[in-house]
Amino acid sequence: MTQRYSKAVLRKLRNDIPIDRVIADILNQPNKVSEGYFRFLCPVCSEFTTAVNPKTNLARCFSCRKNFNPIDMVMAVKTYSFRQAVDYLMGIIRAN
Ligand SMILES: [Zn+2]
Repeated sequence: MTQRYSKAVLRKLRNDIPIDRVIADILNQPNKVSEGYFRFLCPVCSEFTTAVNPKTNLARCFSCRKNFNPIDMVMAVKTYSFRQAVDYLMGIIRAN
């Protein structure tokens, strides 16, 4: 596999796009605010028992115990490969 993206770029994709924005605005994954917390429909198990952590920029599902960074989330929602997910997020960043 050709190394088109540097580690710094991948780090940027994981850290610089807020995970709740990835879920709600970029992927249009069903979401809601419940008791003051942002919840999203888990793309793996379809439960709403989820949360996001702005500090780590990770989303977590308490039902299937999966953690998602923005790249993982794109892979899960769109059933993309890692490479496709990175290309997709790069396209979003370039468009902004
Ligand atoms: Zn889940």
